[in-house]
Amino acid sequence: MDDLKFGTRNKRGDYTPNTPLEVAPIVVWPPKPLKFLAWLPGYFFPWNLLFMATALVIWFYLTPSKETMQTLDWHWIGFIWLRNSAIVFILYGLLELRLYIRRSQGNRFKFNAMFPADKPSDVFMFRSQNIDNFIRSFGTGVPIWTAYEVGMLYAWAHGWGPWATFADHPYALIALGLLLPLFHEAHFFCIHRLIHTPFLYKWVHSVHHNSINPSPWSSLSMHPVEHLLYWSDILIHLVFPSHPLLVLYHLQITGTGAVVGHIGFDKIETADETAMGTHAFAHYLHHKYFEVNYSDGMVPFDLWFGTWHDGTKEGEARMDARFAKKRARLNAGK
Ligand SMILES: [Zn+2]
Ligand SMILES: [Zn+2]
Repeated sequence: MDDLKFGTRNKRGDYTPNTPLEVAPIVVWPPKPLKFLAWLPGYFFPWNLLFMATALVIWFYLTPSKETMQTLDWHWIGFIWLRNSAIVFILYGLLELRLYIRRSQGNRFKFNAMFPADKPSDVFMFRSQNIDNFIRSFGTGVPIWTAYEVGMLYAWAHGWGPWATFADHPYALIALGLLLPLFHEAHFFCIHRLIHTPFLYKWVHSVHHNSINPSPWSSLSMHPVEHLLYWSDILIHLVFPSHPLLVLYHLQITGTGAVVGHIGFDKIETADETAMGTHAFAHYLHHKYFEVNYSDGMVPFDLWFGTWHDGTKEGEARMDARFAKKRARLNAGK
């Protein structure tokens, strides 16, 4: 497939899509209902629908009974840990295998022309981005995700918290389910902005940013303190009336869903002339430039705080002007 019909490539071979990134037309004045309707399918397809389908399978077939979860026991906790590890391993592994190991579409639609495996670096354990990312994801990422999940299911099994049923409160629960991806991103913006403050960046978040050219295994490659903050959005289910199915969906959005921003390709080719959009560009720009796009533009916070980069030359110029101002401010303070 000819990716240059959809974007351009610079002399290093890095790909930029032609269509500028846009902040979701949700909180806009005057309201733009038609634009909102045109944006809506992308809110569900493909990712959130996949995460809801996964959550349904987990809830009906891969979650222990309420009675079992009333007692903390290593058998069911170990099962949840293995199940979460398997989901991450399968989805991330398939993307990695197809796009980075077999390189089945070469660097067509690839933001950074280089492949991380071709560039060993001392910042990584064993000088390998993949091995380092893998150890951090499975060493602390999935265990901390599992700990949050076990805590929430244990609370539900004991009736601790404002739990509801779909039979009694269908509309409230569906409304919460529809808002969860937005809430996740709003929470992510806040903790992400926090860990970009100098002290926390140096000791915590720099681990994630070692992957300047991210691949799927980079998604959950974080310092454990970041893992703790990252999954803390799940605690909202102890505040608003909720249901364990929504907890599982939310954990899919946050856990498995971390891969979305780290695919490294703008589209995944599905046949000779068709390709699926990945939604990875906004977060790729964050990995490239560090202080832009603290969220992916579903919530308008980056726009409001002046940190939004839409991927265009104008976006680049706005970012450069902001960085120059910051440098001048820091130099004046010396
Ligand atoms: Zn990232
Ligand atoms: Zn960051």
